[in-house]
Amino acid sequence: MGLSLPTRSGLPESGQTAEASRPLSLTILGATGSIGASTLSLVAADPAAFDIVALTANDNAEDLAAHAIKYRAQLAVVANPERYRELKAALAGTGIEAAAGEAAIIDAANRPADCVMAAIMGAAGLRASLSALRRGARLALANKECLVCAGDVFMREVERCEGQLLPVDSEHSAIFQALEGQDRAGLERVTVTASGGPFRTWSKDEIEAATLDDALNHPNWSMGRKITIDSATMMNKGLELIEARFLFDLAPEQLDVVVHPQSIIHSMVSYTDGSVIAQLGMPDMRTPIAYALSWPRRMKSDVARLDLAQLRELTFEAPDEAKFPALRLAREAMTTGGGAPAVLNAANEIAVGRFLEGRMRFADIARTVETTLDRASAEGLTGAADDLDAVLAIDHAARDLACHVIG
Ligand code: NAD
Ligand code: MG
Repeated sequence: MGLSLPTRSGLPESGQTAEASRPLSLTILGATGSIGASTLSLVAADPAAFDIVALTANDNAEDLAAHAIKYRAQLAVVANPERYRELKAALAGTGIEAAAGEAAIIDAANRPADCVMAAIMGAAGLRASLSALRRGARLALANKECLVCAGDVFMREVERCEGQLLPVDSEHSAIFQALEGQDRAGLERVTVTASGGPFRTWSKDEIEAATLDDALNHPNWSMGRKITIDSATMMNKGLELIEARFLFDLAPEQLDVVVHPQSIIHSMVSYTDGSVIAQLGMPDMRTPIAYALSWPRRMKSDVARLDLAQLRELTFEAPDEAKFPALRLAREAMTTGGGAPAVLNAANEIAVGRFLEGRMRFADIARTVETTLDRASAEGLTGAADDLDAVLAIDHAARDLACHVIG
């Protein structure tokens, strides 16, 4: 595409521009989810600008087929092989290929497309996302668990190969934008903003008794169920610190969190001369998604425009790690490094899954993660993980350990 490559520091090389004339060929991994829907809504707003190559889903074959037909995809892949017949039948006569299984999702990521939107939830997206990066695609990364579990592996690949890694997470898109064109040597700190989630003003005892409906009731963002629970525990912010650490090559001490309940400032970068550069916008994922797709240019999006006079106030407060222990655990795992973030993530995925099934209390999510991390450390599971297979082995072992901890 002739686009420049963001360096490990997140700063693009200068002086190169995108071809303006050709549609962007795009694959969406996780097309039936919240990020998938926001991405497809940008495509629907300007269909001539995109050429959809492949769409994938976990097991919702019906929605996947409908999207594949509407957006004229070449290929639709469902991860669950039991849903293959349904997908095949729904696509009969359309000329759209159907496939199923994890290997077929990786094949979809490997099929030539300028850009791959990585919007699978959890560590399940690791292999396909890395494959897309390796073959030289632009990887628009929403699937933050990739960098949490395998940050070194992904960033090494960015340096080694032709692929690009562009952040989709709103905070990381903000940091990326606040770093562009700046003197990296003058960077002092990065402050990641957090909404505080639905329990920001709740007491520790009230949080202890929180129900699933309480936890799913996010004040600002409409997202998939797993990340919504991560926002309620504030594990999401912890995962984002780890994501930022790898994406922008920062030391753990350079990263702060500030709670900003309005979610208007998406994050900020402080420089040695006292300047702070922030990125603002309404809380709508279509803005960071648009930037990851069109960078270094800007595309049009009909998101609501920011009206500060109407909003009147932006407020800030320090995060409370006693009320939200998941944030502390993530910070500790970031500092420990090695396999610790992958263990943290695996235990969290298991615990959040149980909570979503109504089989765990809210406050036990962080307790499960903490105990799993302690045991994993005692068993030597948090050592270095040099390649994806080693990361996935830690992920699997930590999942088993977390299930054992839960009992
Ligand atoms: P979601 O649950 O709404 O969608 C997840 C998508 O992944 C679906 O298409 C689902 O079918 C697919 N999927 C799930 N498990 C799979 C598996 N095992 N194999 C293959 N496909 C699978 O989630 P989401 O909210 O869209 O989030 C996706 C990713 O983006 C997550 O990593 C999340 O942390 C990140 N993210 C989301 C938002 C947001 O606003 N929703 C913001 C920032 C980052
Ligand atoms: Mg975010």
